[in-house]
Amino acid sequence: MILHVVSVSGGKDSTATLLLALSRFRRDRVVPIFCDTGNEHEAVYEYLAYLEQALDIQIHRLRASFDDEIAAKRMFIARDRRVGRQYPRAVVLDSAGNPVPKRDSRGNIVTRTVVRRGQTVVEVVPKTRKVGGGRKVRWTNTAKRRALEILHPTGNPYLDLCLWKGRFPSRKAQFCTEELKTKPAVLFQLGLVDQGHTVVSWQGVRRDESPARANALKFECIGPRMFAFRPLVEWSAAQVFDHCAQAGIQPNPLYLQGCSRVGCMPCINVGKDELRQISARWPEHVERIAQWELLVGQACKRGFSTMLSDGHEAADRREIFADLNIYARVEWAKTSRGGKQYDLLADLIEPTACASSYGLCG
Ligand code: SF4
Repeated sequence: MILHVVSVSGGKDSTATLLLALSRFRRDRVVPIFCDTGNEHEAVYEYLAYLEQALDIQIHRLRASFDDEIAAKRMFIARDRRVGRQYPRAVVLDSAGNPVPKRDSRGNIVTRTVVRRGQTVVEVVPKTRKVGGGRKVRWTNTAKRRALEILHPTGNPYLDLCLWKGRFPSRKAQFCTEELKTKPAVLFQLGLVDQGHTVVSWQGVRRDESPARANALKFECIGPRMFAFRPLVEWSAAQVFDHCAQAGIQPNPLYLQGCSRVGCMPCINVGKDELRQISARWPEHVERIAQWELLVGQACKRGFSTMLSDGHEAADRREIFADLNIYARVEWAKTSRGGKQYDLLADLIEPTACASSYGLCG
């Protein structure tokens, strides 16, 4: 049987994609899935329940588990016996630029036997020296105790992922998408293939969303009996909202409250304005992230971790934490002119007013 698996996120694009799939195929052929990161706004869960009721469907909730990875990391930390610091080394050269030979405590030149091109040769070992300050690779006993106390699965996929990795994802290391969304969805679809089905994965991707998606294909084969179908690649955001409205489906209320996208609350890619909106409207989510920063910080070797930490050049992690913890970022989001001046108008945002990035408030 051909099954049409639709990834639903609670956002406008995936909702329009789901509507298209339901308009073209019987309900028993359409399998909506939702990858729950655990870092969602409660409005997303309510919107999914609304879609289920309005469209008479069941959306399968998928949650990644990192129990095994956390157990393995606990074992690794407990057994870590590496030396205190590791240094890169460089060969010492004499004034003529030749390597200086290494000598033992009696002044004899140290040699070693190596095989080169099939021949055993004895060569002189060059003298080397440490370069730079090295890096701390060992877990101190204090850090071990602190991490082992905290490092237990919480059942929240996002937090467990960060506890396992000992850090939050970042723009440069965006492992959250892969671990929390892509892998659970692919595993679910592979399970369907194993049951003998052919899977068409419907994805609400639009080319005008970002340069990374500018060349998205409408249809492609992604594996044995697995295909990707992106019916919205040529659509604009306005067309997507229109399509949902014509089907009588309301947009996610988060769009009416300053969110330009529906996903994690907040996403690591959150913009300054959106962070300001979040802190004004949902301070409880800022508090939750602050608690997560403390937990992840305790579970990592350095003892500090922040969610929004790209681009800080200080070497001292404590300085980075002071500047980039979520409360500091919220204060920064309230400023204008490169973060130096408080934007007094920003404090006048009325938390209940409509602030749709898409002009949905008319
Ligand atoms: S990229 Fe943003 S929305 Fe996507 S999983 Fe990471 S934090 Fe969540």
